[in-house]
Amino acid sequence: DELAGDPSHENVPRQVPGYHYSPVAPTPVAKPRLLEWSAEMGTELGLARPPEQGAATELLAGNRVADSMRPYAARYGGHQFGNWAGQLGDGRAISLGELPGQQGRRWEVQLKGAGPTPYSRRADGRAVLRSSVREFLCSEAMHHLGVPTTRALSLVSTGDQVLRDMFYDGNARPEPGAVVARVAPSFVRFGNFQLLLAHNETDNLRVLADYVIRHHFPELGEPSPAVYVAWLTEICRRTAETVAQWQTVGFVHGVLNTDNMSILGLTIDYGPYGWLEPYEPGWTPNTTDFTNYRYAFGQQPQVVLWNLTQLAQALTPLVPDPELLRPALNQYVATFNRSHHVRLLAKLGLTASGNEAADKQLVGSLLPAMEGARVDMTLFYRHLSHLVPRLLAAESVNEPVEKLATALLQAVSYAAPDATDSAALRAWLGQYAARLRQEPSTPEAIRDGMLTVNPKYVLRNYLAQQAIEAAEAGNLAPLHTLHEVLKRPFDEQPEHEALAARRPEWAATKPGSATL
Ligand code: AMP
Ligand code: MG
Ligand code: MG
Repeated sequence: DELAGDPSHENVPRQVPGYHYSPVAPTPVAKPRLLEWSAEMGTELGLARPPEQGAATELLAGNRVADSMRPYAARYGGHQFGNWAGQLGDGRAISLGELPGQQGRRWEVQLKGAGPTPYSRRADGRAVLRSSVREFLCSEAMHHLGVPTTRALSLVSTGDQVLRDMFYDGNARPEPGAVVARVAPSFVRFGNFQLLLAHNETDNLRVLADYVIRHHFPELGEPSPAVYVAWLTEICRRTAETVAQWQTVGFVHGVLNTDNMSILGLTIDYGPYGWLEPYEPGWTPNTTDFTNYRYAFGQQPQVVLWNLTQLAQALTPLVPDPELLRPALNQYVATFNRSHHVRLLAKLGLTASGNEAADKQLVGSLLPAMEGARVDMTLFYRHLSHLVPRLLAAESVNEPVEKLATALLQAVSYAAPDATDSAALRAWLGQYAARLRQEPSTPEAIRDGMLTVNPKYVLRNYLAQQAIEAAEAGNLAPLHTLHEVLKRPFDEQPEHEALAARRPEWAATKPGSATL
């Protein structure tokens, strides 16, 4: 309790030096209604889906606080777009407490959009239905793809209107409000540590580091300088694995500020994220990043290294020599490169061969070839998986690889066939077919393995938008269907073929929605 900010100021925005968090009560909303529920997360927490309205839904909206709950908002800082921003904190997230899960796990439950906190600065502490649907759907979709992420439990509409300027044109328009209950073992971010360094709160820095190590990294042992180093190394390793997964499913976070970096290596804070459709390393869904493209798809691995460097900086008071922390950052680079390569090999159905240099060359030349041919990343890998048996049989049945390449491009490219710069991809397919023939497995086994790592269904930007617009108009069916389909992203779901289709022309230029 001595680590909590003075509760007497309640929701007044303020600096809270010396404290890790502030006790704060959610602000009630007009008419909560449960719109969507994650049955998997509910089961983990031992909770059944509550009725659309009633006591449980009141809890999930912040209208009721149970006696056992001690709601609070966390204090943290961060670098926003590379600039130190000082104190940020949970401006619209309020933690209710922890619940036990299966196998001894503990989960923190947080309401996003439940009203102002000491950290709301000039904003209202609320979230709109649009951004809440996006967080709910994407975090659950990522989980079912196997990507480390915070989870969503519930999506509740509030019955209140929220003012948002979504086009940054100064014309705010009212939108329906919502609250997502999101869940993670911890929501501690890099920025929690950075703020303590910035304020020279070294004792608090140690308290928080020791808390996180004891509760979330107990395998590292009792905190000591050597354990802090091992801890940062493990954070770097986990983060590298998560980023390698983003790069191989085509997820673009959009706002990789250091306050949006999880100390557990989870994907956290779903704002203006987006999914690659044409393979394009320079693409970002974040319209506020259109001058620098700092957080574009291809920048993510290196910008995360920059973020980890800021975390290492924040931890320097805990070790006798800052140089001790440097190998952890090298670990990030090594782990990312290894994991990215291994994951790309698996997406191509290849097992590590004796000739790693040749494999690196094959994998490395695919990415620019995909970009040149403007292929849809998800569809390319999925169609390639199905094509493997024919590629392997091509020689014996005298079916030219060139013909297969044309059919593939027709199915997955966004460019007109004659306008496509497809020569590199066509040449690559020939090399790939030759390399496939060195694999010991049967063509069908290679294909089946690829289908377990190359998803058919991802949360395409326009699909999320369609579900949002229907929900805003009172039709929850598209949201529900999309949620269900994304729980089985690797399965063929013939009745939902449309949700795996190439993005239609009209959806081409729609950027991901802004969040604030
Ligand atoms: P983000 O860019 O979404 O990570 O948010 C940066 C900071 O702004 C965090 O401290 C958020 O809690 C805060 N914030 C974002 N939206 C709101 C809002 N509607 N009301 C209050 N604080 C907000
Ligand atoms: Mg954030
Ligand atoms: Mg956010």
